[in-house]
Amino acid sequence: MAQRVVIVGAGHNGLVAAALLARAGVEVLVLERLQRVGGAAVSAPAFDGHDARLSRFSYLVSLFPQSLIDDLGLDLELRSRDTASFTPWRRDGRAGGLLVETEAGEATRASFAELTGGDEELAAWERFYAEVGTVAETIAPTLLEPLPHIGDLRDRVEMAIWTDLVEQPIGTAIRRRFADDVVRGVVATDALIGTFASLDELSLVQNRCFLYHLIGNGTGEWRVPVGGMGAVTAELARVATEAGATIRLNSEVDGIDVSDVDVTVCGDGFVERADHVLCGAAPHVLERLLGHSPASKPAGAQLKLNILLSRLPALASGADPRVAFAGTFHLDESYDQLERAHRAAAEGQLPPATGEFYCHTLTDRSILGAELRDSEAQTLTYFGLHTPPGVLDVPGAKDEAVARVLAALDSHLAEPIEPLILGLEAKTPTEIEHELAMPGGHIFHGDLAWPWLEEGEHPRTPAQRWGVATAHPRVLLCGSGARRGGAVSGIGGHNAARALLATLVADTAAG
Ligand SMILES: Cc1cc2nc3c(=O)[nH]c(=O)nc-3n(C[C@H](O)[C@H](O)[C@H](O)COP(=O)(O)OP(=O)(O)OC[C@H]3O[C@@H](n4cnc5c(N)ncnc54)[C@H](O)[C@@H]3O)c2cc1C
Repeated sequence: MAQRVVIVGAGHNGLVAAALLARAGVEVLVLERLQRVGGAAVSAPAFDGHDARLSRFSYLVSLFPQSLIDDLGLDLELRSRDTASFTPWRRDGRAGGLLVETEAGEATRASFAELTGGDEELAAWERFYAEVGTVAETIAPTLLEPLPHIGDLRDRVEMAIWTDLVEQPIGTAIRRRFADDVVRGVVATDALIGTFASLDELSLVQNRCFLYHLIGNGTGEWRVPVGGMGAVTAELARVATEAGATIRLNSEVDGIDVSDVDVTVCGDGFVERADHVLCGAAPHVLERLLGHSPASKPAGAQLKLNILLSRLPALASGADPRVAFAGTFHLDESYDQLERAHRAAAEGQLPPATGEFYCHTLTDRSILGAELRDSEAQTLTYFGLHTPPGVLDVPGAKDEAVARVLAALDSHLAEPIEPLILGLEAKTPTEIEHELAMPGGHIFHGDLAWPWLEEGEHPRTPAQRWGVATAHPRVLLCGSGARRGGAVSGIGGHNAARALLATLVADTAAG
């Protein structure tokens, strides 16, 4: 008899798992609480009266392995941006901008020289990212395999870069390798997107975040999904349903009961029996569904803004806004500003704005309706750091936080941003939790884990080997909360499907 699997949640990872299992002949039912698929990977018309479908939550793709895209047969275009990043700065009454091109050339060299007065900082930059690249190339091919052992990876890269990334707080390496506060900050932000930590935190959660931001497909390049994140999800839903999976919307699971022989999944008006359950919701949600008292709840720390502009603003430095906003536009993210913002938030105060903008429509205008597309309109998305629920869930704090972002942006502009704004929506972690059931609004469902087995860790089951195990052999994690599952990558879904198929093969062999 065909195995029956219920997948909780039609986030992008749940859809990847559904497609792979259905293709392997498993009967798959996906239950999704919302009336749409995609979880945090969706496009939405965020502004009343304006035909613009923005990637409402996640917006760039790096960690989705190309081999998985190919295996799934996704019709997807991930477009490179010419600008990797631009960081406006003000020093001694001067306004400038640190430009890093995706293919670093003369403009990158000149902008490093203008900020730092020489070529040493750029040389340090190139050295550092070349070394990080060797780590990325080593780890990336393992992400769709059973977890490698830490020793197998460590032995294949230079000890110095391994130590910098894995064995001591990333702040130590950044301060040692770079002298300039702005350059240090640009490097540091990858450790903080989705992670509330000081760069010196001893848990090294910021190092894990840094690593994930740099290893995608062995290059760490973040690309623009043409059509927005909704296009990624639509393709996944297409291949899952074409493979035979059933996706049922408006079906919130409120309990999971596990026995030795099967699993029962129930919600308002339904009871489903399955041989196995894959959970695409966060581990914290799963604990509740299983009737356990969950461990401490994760907490996100981002302020997310989506903005529609009538046109891009002029910059105080005179830099071309079409170049500056085409990549990650770092707003007041120098190393010192990042650490000060973290300290303020950790003490319960609303910190000064620190975060990053990016303009999707400079790379892909297909998300705009015809009228906007023919105008000078542009979208901006902002991911603000160090704004956890504790500081944003205070009356008036969200409005004040938005005002601080716009004022901080204005300080780098030649004209105020406000008159150019056609629409703006802001979401706090708590609002994201209510909307997406991401506990605490944590964008990765919880802190990221190292993508390998630690010393002394000896997995016995396929689920443990693939990093998708729970306390119950019949229940696996398939979402962002699986080991290696964070971000829009499909890796959690793939690895859960592979683990389950390996389990079924082993069970059949055992008779
Ligand atoms: C503001 C923001 C910006 C981000 N930016 C990026 C980015 O640019 N690039 C990137 O790679 N990542 C980004 N991320 C992270 C990324 O979006 C997530 O890690 C990823 O989308 C998680 O996918 P998932 O399928 O594992 O889970 P989710 O997208 O969380 O999907 C889980 C699904 O399960 C459903 N569900 C939950 N509970 C139940 C239940 N009881 N019953 C039924 N269904 C349930 C939910 O409704 C949801 O549809 C961002 C996240 C946020 C919030």
